[in-house]
Amino acid sequence: MNLQTEINELFSSQQKEWEQLSNGIRQLDDIQEKEFSWGDDVFVRVQFNPARIVSTGANTDKKEIEKRPCFLCEAHRPVQQRGILFMGKYVILCNPFPILRNHITIPLHSHVPQRIRKKVSDMLSLAEQLPDYLIFYNGPRSGASAPDHFHLQAGLKSPVLLQGDNELRSCLTIESDSKHEVEELFEDVYQYIHQRQPEETEPMLNVIAFTEQNRYTLHVFPRKAHRSGHYYEEGRKQLLISPGALDMAGLIISVREEDFNKIQSQDVEDIYSQVSMPVI
Ligand SMILES: [Zn+2]
Repeated sequence: MNLQTEINELFSSQQKEWEQLSNGIRQLDDIQEKEFSWGDDVFVRVQFNPARIVSTGANTDKKEIEKRPCFLCEAHRPVQQRGILFMGKYVILCNPFPILRNHITIPLHSHVPQRIRKKVSDMLSLAEQLPDYLIFYNGPRSGASAPDHFHLQAGLKSPVLLQGDNELRSCLTIESDSKHEVEELFEDVYQYIHQRQPEETEPMLNVIAFTEQNRYTLHVFPRKAHRSGHYYEEGRKQLLISPGALDMAGLIISVREEDFNKIQSQDVEDIYSQVSMPVI
């Protein structure tokens, strides 16, 4: 059985035995979204997804993270949550707070920090086995709510998420038929971003990987801030948006209805300009 079929089967059986997951998926069926566009080619969708407060509102300070039980470690996962072993060291799990169709989380078995540099090859292997999916990575200070436990995420592809570089934010695209070449080019991009942020253990970034007709693509979004100023405002000026890979690609997650109703294209431009690192 191929991995995509195995995942479909995992979703059908997990929905029967795990209520939180079936509720999450049902909510996704009638989720509200609205779209902004710039010219004919650039578009951004905003999704009102209140369940994502678990991630958007997450306090990722080192002290807070050390205090809480890690929800990606096997010992603390929900009892109903079952997974599929991948590469002998990862487990593929259904995400009970989905943003995308077939939203999965893929943690390593071991509790090791979120660092992509040596794992981009695993990300590409996953993309290769899941041609209908896009695989995404949130850096420890760029949207990950578990910066202490390495994990990837994935979900079914949609056009809004496959956009490369545009006028709103930077995106470095790496494309090749050769996986090895993609890995080498990623290392160059990684070094370049790190040079610009030598103080960071890992430079701030988000990555999206997918394959199309056996060709590998990586979209790397260099970041200069974890969240924009809107997040820390009070009252009417506040927008509780904490961008990760999907937001950078073109799907912004809003967890409060008031933010979803009031957000304008100018705010979208402003959020991107505050969190995206310009590339020279
Ligand atoms: Zn853990």
